[in-house]
Amino acid sequence: MEKAEAVTMEKIVSLSRRRGFVFPSSEIYGGLGSAYDYGHYGVLAKNNVKARWLEAMIQERDDIVALDSAIILNPRIWEASGHVEGFSDPLVDCRTCKLRFRADQLGESACGRKPSKKPGETPECDLTEPRQFHLMFETKVGAVEDSGSKAYLRPETAQGIFVNFKNVLQLARRKPPFGIAQIGKSFRNEITPGNFLFRTREFEQMEMEYFVPPAEAEKWYRYWIDERFGWYTRYGLRESHLRVRPHEADELSHYSSATSDIEYLFPIGWSELEGIADRGDFDLSRHTEFSGTKLEYVDGVTGERYVPHVIEPAGGVDRALLAFLVDAYDEEVVGERERTVLRLHPRIAPVKAAVLPLIGKSEEMVAKAQALYEELRLRHSVEYDDSGAIGRRYRRQDEIGTPWAFTIDEQTLEDDTVTVRDRDSLAQERLPIGGVRAWLDDALERDWKTPKAD
Ligand code: ATP
Repeated sequence: MEKAEAVTMEKIVSLSRRRGFVFPSSEIYGGLGSAYDYGHYGVLAKNNVKARWLEAMIQERDDIVALDSAIILNPRIWEASGHVEGFSDPLVDCRTCKLRFRADQLGESACGRKPSKKPGETPECDLTEPRQFHLMFETKVGAVEDSGSKAYLRPETAQGIFVNFKNVLQLARRKPPFGIAQIGKSFRNEITPGNFLFRTREFEQMEMEYFVPPAEAEKWYRYWIDERFGWYTRYGLRESHLRVRPHEADELSHYSSATSDIEYLFPIGWSELEGIADRGDFDLSRHTEFSGTKLEYVDGVTGERYVPHVIEPAGGVDRALLAFLVDAYDEEVVGERERTVLRLHPRIAPVKAAVLPLIGKSEEMVAKAQALYEELRLRHSVEYDDSGAIGRRYRRQDEIGTPWAFTIDEQTLEDDTVTVRDRDSLAQERLPIGGVRAWLDDALERDWKTPKAD
């Protein structure tokens, strides 16, 4: 029989806080709605998500280069991209409960007074007509407050890539198909943020713009859907919890001729993890028009010239991390004890291994454990812990998703072997202490599949 999913969003929020992954932001000042700060383990895990993405985009292939563009760009860029004119959501206010709702999501929203009802469903609901609400954050640049100094915090990283197209083409000597990849913060004044890290106003994106000859756009669009789907399963998400959903014609953005979302079955239901869009030549043509700089590819040998089409996989770092946490969360009873465990992919897990002297008061065990810890920490994120009962120390590591624990016990003092405890199977084996480093290097290279039922 299929085991019911133990995970809920509340449990993820509570574990994240309890173990120092993610805190509500500005907490001592009463917080700021839907803003979060990452603590130690959150930073390590988030960095791992980004590192795995960069590896897949840059290290493992020859056709993509990296970029890190500015957050505040020339405001004309957002006119060219269509954001100044069109980046808004329709919004309705309820005069009775004073809440705001996205007009296109009334069916999925809850009335402020009767959460069992949708906005507009009770006789007391008094909704305004929809108004367009702009999602870009405005700011001022420089000391002079005139309209010339108005600028925006970027709502996506992609435009910083398009405006560097010529630089990369010339300086990195690329020829389509090639890509430019960037990770960075984006800002959107979302009307209805929420569901923890799923939708916030400040978030990180991982975006790659892949420039292709126009006739190859369809082929590369399919290719990148498969590639990105494969990345999520490679790092542990269950295939049964992932799906590709092509957009209907009326859902497509103004720039896109085709878009598919990779969706994950979050506790809130199937929701977008990443979008893969065929943006055609919209962006390069618009920036050519607005900047006066020709953004096209000219073949040095044949003289052929064209405006490349763009395929864009655009994902969220925070949203991906949330999916990894949700997918990894598990509860089980071992012996008489209940344990919570994050079955994270070892290369996503914030800590790779714990080094634990069985008896924290034994000087000999502590000395051996510390020596092993010093050796391992040079290469990997590892932790040393000698405080409290060993069972408690294991459970703490289980909750932060540490895949292995190396325990130094009485036998170590006799024969220089240690036990390796596996987070998922709880199997223990003995290893020579001198071989632990190579064992861990090797374990981190192995393919990994979640032990959770698909
Ligand atoms: P949604 O429909 O959920 O608002 P979107 O289609 O507007 O998302 P894109 O513009 O395609 O999102 O952005 C690419 C990715 O960036 C999304 O798939 C998501 O992972 C992430 N993302 C977008 N908005 C947010 C947000 N407010 N908070 C966290 N991540 C976000």
